[in-house]
Amino acid sequence: MRTPFATASAFVFATVLAGLAAPALAGPGDLALDDVRILSADAMQGRAVGSPGSQLARTYILERFKGIGLAPIGEGFERPFRFKRKDGVTVTGVNLVARIKGTEGGGKTLLVTAHYDHIGVRNGQIYNGADDNASGVAGLLAVAEAFKEKPPRHDVLIVALDAEESGLRGAKAFAAEPSVPLASIGLAVNFDMLSKNAKGELYVSGSSPQPFLKPILDDVARTAPVTLKQGHDTDAQGKDNNWTFQSDQGAFAEKGVPWVYFGVEDHPEYHQPTDDFETIPQPFFKGSVATVVQATRAFDERLGEIVKASGR
Ligand SMILES: [Zn+2]
Repeated sequence: MRTPFATASAFVFATVLAGLAAPALAGPGDLALDDVRILSADAMQGRAVGSPGSQLARTYILERFKGIGLAPIGEGFERPFRFKRKDGVTVTGVNLVARIKGTEGGGKTLLVTAHYDHIGVRNGQIYNGADDNASGVAGLLAVAEAFKEKPPRHDVLIVALDAEESGLRGAKAFAAEPSVPLASIGLAVNFDMLSKNAKGELYVSGSSPQPFLKPILDDVARTAPVTLKQGHDTDAQGKDNNWTFQSDQGAFAEKGVPWVYFGVEDHPEYHQPTDDFETIPQPFFKGSVATVVQATRAFDERLGEIVKASGR
């Protein structure tokens, strides 16, 4: 079906890419805000897997990858996969995989992921998914920038995943055909919804089932610019409050890869057409991005500790 988006796509594309030019004096938080603003623009049509909006989002993320100076593994960044949706239609999703080489060479790899898809257009309304999960992709790109500025000790994979909203499909495709052997991944770090919480709280899940993460996260929490709370990783408050398998980290947890997940609790805009850039509290989001950058740096520095304690 021909949509207004299709007719306007060339213009929209040029406009969106023009937005890539970052102001000269922008700080990391400002770049992250730009990422969310652009990825959650109406032009992206809610970034549903297999849609033109998804293609546009991918083009933007790839431009950012190249701008940051990320390198692919092998030929290119794109890793397509096919799956059958619940309605029986087969669609193609595309994960984007980049690697930053560590200074120490060899050893374990740190995997960092965020999904860029959302739920598209329903009943004529665009679900822009600013928090879910343009915000996580912005966090992913901020981590990549930080590691390009000061290289990690271990190899770091920066992976923008597709089709999370279809049931962690991109993460499952990556875990089934990983770009590096799963056994070499020391920790899988996932970001999903980093930008909205009325109480200024960001959650990190994983330290209850993997207590070796707790001292690292306690250290991060002490100096983090937002309140970093640990939890949502057991059935103690009911199955729905256990987030272990509710975002992409689940695909790695399932395979026995140590994992950690950063995100906020549900809010009124969750999976609503009102999950827009305008409803993001900017100071909290910037603090949240700085927190995940700080935490991911700590995971790299202490990956040996994690690997030893997890028995990998
Ligand atoms: Zn999400």
